[in-house]
This record gives sequence, structure tokens and C-alpha cells, in this order.
Amino acid sequence: QAKQKTPNPNPCTPHAVCMPYPAQGHINPMLKLAKLLHHKGFHITFVNTEFNHRRLLKSQGPHSLSGTASFRFETIPDGLPPSEADATQDIPALCHSIMHNFIDPFRVLLDKINDEAAASSEVPPVTCVVSDGAMSCFTLKVAEEVGIPAVIFFPTSATGLMGHVAYPKLIEKGFAPLKDESYLTNGYLDTVIDWIPGMNGIRLKDLPSFIRATELNVMIHFVLEAIDKAREASAIIFNTFDALEHDVLEALSTMYPPIYPIGPFQFLLDQFPQNHLNSIGSSLWKEETECLSWLDSKQPNSVIYVNFGSITVMTPLQLIEFAWGLANSNQTFLWVIRPDLVVGDSAILLPDFVSETKERSLLASWCPQEQVLNHPSVGGFLTHCGWNSTLESICSGVPMLCWPFFAEQQTNCWSCCSQWGVGMEINSDVKREEVERMVRELMGGERGKEMRRKVREWKKLGEEATACSVGSSYLNFEKLVGGVLMSTG
Ligand code: UDP
Repeated sequence: QAKQKTPNPNPCTPHAVCMPYPAQGHINPMLKLAKLLHHKGFHITFVNTEFNHRRLLKSQGPHSLSGTASFRFETIPDGLPPSEADATQDIPALCHSIMHNFIDPFRVLLDKINDEAAASSEVPPVTCVVSDGAMSCFTLKVAEEVGIPAVIFFPTSATGLMGHVAYPKLIEKGFAPLKDESYLTNGYLDTVIDWIPGMNGIRLKDLPSFIRATELNVMIHFVLEAIDKAREASAIIFNTFDALEHDVLEALSTMYPPIYPIGPFQFLLDQFPQNHLNSIGSSLWKEETECLSWLDSKQPNSVIYVNFGSITVMTPLQLIEFAWGLANSNQTFLWVIRPDLVVGDSAILLPDFVSETKERSLLASWCPQEQVLNHPSVGGFLTHCGWNSTLESICSGVPMLCWPFFAEQQTNCWSCCSQWGVGMEINSDVKREEVERMVRELMGGERGKEMRRKVREWKKLGEEATACSVGSSYLNFEKLVGGVLMSTG
């Protein structure tokens, strides 16, 4: 017998399908954006890859992804060989697969949801797609087929994106690809590029790192496609605020569809009442919360927090240099060493280091970072400058030591150190003496004090940007929701 079709009681409820790039630094802000939209009355379908869904179930517990009637989780395959590993996936392989394998499952998913909407009163039809910029190679096409608007969310800084937007011209002018490997070390990367809007004085080495290649590899193609596709979106969202990246945002808005800086997302979320969605987390690793009570026992601003995010990998030698730099600084530290942080074998720290620092250090493998950064005992952050970490540090008023690893982290480091006055860069060829000196300076020196003052000013501007009914980000969000996200395509 054919299923009885029940009319949707409120067919006007907007329904956003949120499609993050399947990595930690993308899922976290997309989940916040989804929660923001839910606060505005949107029905949400949040799409994870099967691989990440399994990991989230494991790290968050089985109830975490059951969602609610109006906030649901769905999965699609990632096209990579099956793996039981709880580790960061091979990025170029994932990007290759996104370009070739995601469109069909995504199309099938949207059809399935719309079939469900037609058959039941519980789910409204999909009215818009909110896609990570790195997923636009398939999401935009499917949205167009369905006849609904697609909005792109770039979870990078606007400046980082502008660095990517410069790629075609860098290639055209012969700056990239590099002639050969010697150009990585012969001083060539110190060349100043003076024609990127809003980024005066930037050097090649500060631009997103994929450009440091001797051929147009899969990552460069992936970036070129993403920045090109973004022109077809109905709008572009950034987790930033106008005062922080004004010039670049202004320049981007002359090149792209309407730009909506609506960050910091966390501050904007704080404007809405707590609800049952607050408990939905997105950590792919299990958080070790014991570090919070350890921090409780420390003095205000006395702990340096060290964490290189979800993707950075380093050599055992680099790990040892950081370890002895921290040990010799005599500062108290909380160091998060992800199980897959070190290339090759797992992270084995020298017994001498562990015994020498155990009175004033805590090692963990993953932590609730935003809570850690907001803890009054944390006075500095040694970070890889992923955009989420950078913004979370600014929102917590914590100055940074920057050791960027890849992608636009180099550009974020440049912004922190030479534009915003909130960070100091550690040489990529890390040495213990430099780490020791900089950690001391950050935690107790004059420069550290000045950086702390600066970062608190930026935090205040972030709060002002998200202030109810008056802040630029708040108003942008209202405009985004009331305009393009409610339009009919
Ligand atoms: N994170 C966390 N616990 C950790 C390390 C990272 O919760 O121990 C979160 C962090 O708060 C941030 C995200 O993971 O939201 C990392 O994103 P980011 O853009 O900083 O770097 P990526 O991991 O993408 O390199």
C-alpha cells in the first residue's frame, strides 16, 4: 500500500543542509553556524562523512549524534578505503575524493530528505545549502539542480582566503610553482608581494603554504577550484568580524557575492539563550577534562598552553626541541600531544624531560580547548595558528606564540605578529633556545605584557561586533538570515 502523504504543518520552516569539509577545524565552526541558524528557526540537517560519524560516536558517546526533531545528522561516504583509525585523514587524498566522489551521495541525500519531507510532516523540504568553501565543487551544482540557494562558509580567516585568491595571479606572474626545491631555502620566499589588497608587506612565505610547490599539485588545483566556485554562491560567510580584517573584507566584497562576516561565532552564540543543542559537541578525539581541575590549582595567567591542532605533524626532533625549550623556560605548561602528532612512531618523550618537569606540567592527548583557553590560569598559547585556534585565543584574551604548519596558518601567523600585535613567531626550524626565550618573554616579559593588552582590546572589539542589535556581525547575521537564506533560489 502506498504511503499516505501528510501535508507539512509548517511548510515555511526553512531547512538548511550544512555540509562541512570533513576535518576537525571545519566541523567545529560549521556546527556553531548550524546552531546559530537553528536559533533563528531553521530546521538543520548536518552532514558528516561516515568515517567522522563513527569517530564522533566514539568520542562523544552514542547519544551525541541522535540530534533532535529539528536538528538532525546524516552521513555520506568519503570515497576513501575503509579505515578504523582514529587519526587525521590524508588531506590530498581526501581533497581528490571530494572532487570526484561526493556529488552522487550528496544528490541522493538531498533527494531522500525531500522525499521524506513530501511524505511526512516532521521534515520541511530543503530550502538552502550551507556549504564549506572546500566542498563547493559538488554542493553548488546539486543546490542548483534542486533550485535552492547555496551559501558558502569559509572557515579560514578572510586574510587567509585572500592569500588563496592571489594564487592565479601568483601563477600567472611566475611566482609559483617554484622552479626547483632550492627555492624553498635560498631566500626566495622572503620576496615581498605588494599587490594583494589589504595585505601590504606580506612575503611569499606568509602566503598559504600550498604555493610552495614545484608543480601545480592536487592541493593547488583544489584551492583554485574553490576560489573560483565561490563566485557562484548566493553569499559568503566568514567567522571573523569587520574590525579585525576590515581592508581584506572590503576588497573581497568587490570580487565576490555578498560577504557576511558574522563572527566570532562563539560570541554570537552567547547572545542566544542556552538550549538542548549546547550539549552537542564535535570533537573527533575524546576530550580529557582533567586538565581543567589541574588548571584550577594554578595561579592566574601562569600557564602556557601548547597545542598544534588536529592536522599538524612534526618530526621527533622538533618535538624534542619544543620539550627542552619548555623545560628550560621554567614556566608551568599544559601540553596537548595528539596521538598522531609525531611523524613515524608515536610521541615518546625523554624520561629526563618528564621527570624534570612533572611538578609544573601536564601532558594530555586532546582537551576541551575553548574551556582551557578561557581558564583564568592560562596566560599564553603556543599554537600552529589554525584559524579556529587563533580566533579562540583572541576571544579568550590570550596572546600567542606562533608555529604555523601549513595552509593559511602562515598567513594567520603574519596577521597575529605583524598586524594585530598579539603573537610572536617561532622559526619553522625550531630550536630549544628560541622556544625557551620566547616562552619567558610571552609569560613574563614586556612584549608579552603588550601583546596581552592588545589581544584583550581585540577581544573587546569582537564582543562589540556581536552585541545584540547593534554589532556589525550581529546585524550581518540578521541580514543573512532574513535575506538570502530565506529566498527561494
Ligand atoms: N581542538 C580541541 N582540542 C584540542 C585541539 C583542538 O578542541 O586538544 C579544537 C580547537 O578548539 C579548534 C579545532 O579543534 O576549534 C582546531 O581547529 P584549527 O583551525 O585551530 O586547526 P586545525 O586542526 O584545523 O589545524
